[in-house]
Amino acid sequence: MKDLLQIRGLSPEQIESILSRAGEYFDVVTAGGKPFPKLKDRSVITLFYENSTRTRASFESAAKYLGAEVVNLSVSASSVQKGESLKDTALTLDAMCPDVIVMRHAQSGAPHRLAGWVKAHVVNGGDGLHAHPTQALLDMFTAQRHFGSLNGRTAAIIGDIEHSRVARSNIYAMTLLGMKVKLFGPSTLMPSDMSGMPCTVCSSMREALEGADIVMALRIQLERMKGGLFPSAGEYNKYFGLNKDVMKYANDGAIIMHPGPVNRGVELSHDVLDDPVCIKDIQVTGGLSVRMALLDMLIGGEL
Ligand code: ASP
Repeated sequence: MKDLLQIRGLSPEQIESILSRAGEYFDVVTAGGKPFPKLKDRSVITLFYENSTRTRASFESAAKYLGAEVVNLSVSASSVQKGESLKDTALTLDAMCPDVIVMRHAQSGAPHRLAGWVKAHVVNGGDGLHAHPTQALLDMFTAQRHFGSLNGRTAAIIGDIEHSRVARSNIYAMTLLGMKVKLFGPSTLMPSDMSGMPCTVCSSMREALEGADIVMALRIQLERMKGGLFPSAGEYNKYFGLNKDVMKYANDGAIIMHPGPVNRGVELSHDVLDDPVCIKDIQVTGGLSVRMALLDMLIGGEL
């Protein structure tokens, strides 16, 4: 496999092999150890046209844990601001012979274009509304560590589905691992046609949460909305926010996940946000391990 651009097209076996390698790294990292420099003399460039805290820092840390050199191209301080095209930027970076380019872009499909132009492996760090494959992999990794096998479990994904690349990638990853997926959110933030997607759309929070083991809240993607698609943050929290009360509908032992960044008091109320029921910080540690596994396996030709 040259590139990781989306979850669709991966096999359950490929996903399981990444999660299993990530498990080895997770144990070493959380025990305070540094894995040996498996990627010494290798290099990774991050090319982020959209803001990021977790994904970019996580890829950088993952590469450095494995001994690779990392260059973070700051798009706002680059020749992109002088009008250089995506293709010319790509060819310039590729001429520096990196092993991997991790790209985030506001346009769906941009990493696919990049992958067609460069010799380096391309990893999609999130493109528009389309996909965020490493987020879905880290979500599956974290959930699997929590529950053991995910086969037969149910997830409820709540919130701004329309603008969420995280939801789209997770729907595919979850179903590939044998899970059932339910969706709930404001009707203005629900794609009009979900018929091609392996999931069901629910008409109430209760319907979505009943039987759920994983409840995934999504951030409201204000930067992708043209107008007000919901009345106010307070109203959103009242009808679509997660709190201890609504979590009573979910299965005993259900967990809350959130890809971050969280709008505190909007998607998640404080009573769950600062409670062990919400495992968003474990997701971040899982993300580091998953990205280490991915870089290692992609560069090593193991996928
Ligand atoms: N960090 C995730 C993404 O880049 C989720 C979010 O921004 O809401 O898609």
